Amino acid sequence: MPFVFKKHNAVKDKKIQQFLLDEAGLSSSVSQKLLAKNRVFDDQGNVLKNGQTLQCEYVQVAVFEGHTRGLKPVFEVEDFAVFDKPSGVMVHPTRKTTAYSLLDEIRHHFGDEADLAHRIDAETSGLVLVAKNKQASTILKTMFEHGKCDKEYLALVKGQLKNNITIDKPISKSNSTIKVKMTCENKKGKVSITHIHPLEFNKKAKAYQSSQALHVELTQDNEKINEVQSDCILCGSCYSACPVYAVNEDFLGPFSLTRVWKYVSDKREEGAEEKINHIQTSGVWDCTLCNECTLVCPQDISSKADIEKLRSKSAMVGYSDPNFASFNSFGGGFGFDGSPSF
Ligand code: SF4
Ligand code: SF4
Repeated sequence: MPFVFKKHNAVKDKKIQQFLLDEAGLSSSVSQKLLAKNRVFDDQGNVLKNGQTLQCEYVQVAVFEGHTRGLKPVFEVEDFAVFDKPSGVMVHPTRKTTAYSLLDEIRHHFGDEADLAHRIDAETSGLVLVAKNKQASTILKTMFEHGKCDKEYLALVKGQLKNNITIDKPISKSNSTIKVKMTCENKKGKVSITHIHPLEFNKKAKAYQSSQALHVELTQDNEKINEVQSDCILCGSCYSACPVYAVNEDFLGPFSLTRVWKYVSDKREEGAEEKINHIQTSGVWDCTLCNECTLVCPQDISSKADIEKLRSKSAMVGYSDPNFASFNSFGGGFGFDGSPSF
């Protein structure tokens, strides 16, 4: 928990700002900042404001204490450092109960004066520049404010982008209650130009294409459930590792079949049997169950296990392994009927 409450016995009738200087041992600037940010409370949890006279037993000051989960800077010089922020970690806390953010690591490694030079979204992984002292913080923040730094993002998108795109729309804070929400509706906003260059169409990560070919239509709710269930990042590793896909591009492949399983196993799904019908050719029976897809998946998704379950489902609606059927009917001579012919 980065915010900890430090208790100090109150001195009745003393002004809070003087109390913070004399009794809590805080500097004038830190005291003012804490008061301005509503981080000073009485013993009942009421916010104490600048100029207020103390009548309580004790005063509580919410102080940010960064703790580490082992993240270290990937680059560091005297005045600044760079962290490689993982996806899912916020750059700074959004409320006092936020359990962990990049700011924890920054303060843990470099102390109270260290700060972020810019932000990236929690979902985005990537490099974050961090100032190690006040002076560096001012310089770096000003550079970002004045557009003196370019940011590059590598994004995986759904569908296929064929052309370069330039988005030239000024951005500003929206009027929404979410204070950090940005909008490009205000023409007087800050200049913001984004160039998008398609780099590569990842044919191997053809999950969405295949699911469309299979008439797997996604409602918004299903899409959400599906993403949460699978956590797939469409990296395509399972396709790269799959020996069947390597020799047969018609094979639906690991993640497409995992996706089908998510629908088929969803009790609300009405067209399960139809989807099972679609995966009989170049699908479940072509997989060799080698498990390579599972071994390489960074999200611990086991397509092989999903394919096995799809096979069982297929059997329940009357399908059988065509490889086994042809083996069994090979000249009739091997007799799987309990009466061996040799
Ligand atoms: S288990 Fe099946 S889908 Fe996975 S890599 Fe092997 S052959 Fe491909
Ligand atoms: S390897 Fe895992 S995360 Fe990557 S596409 Fe396949 S299932 Fe998705």
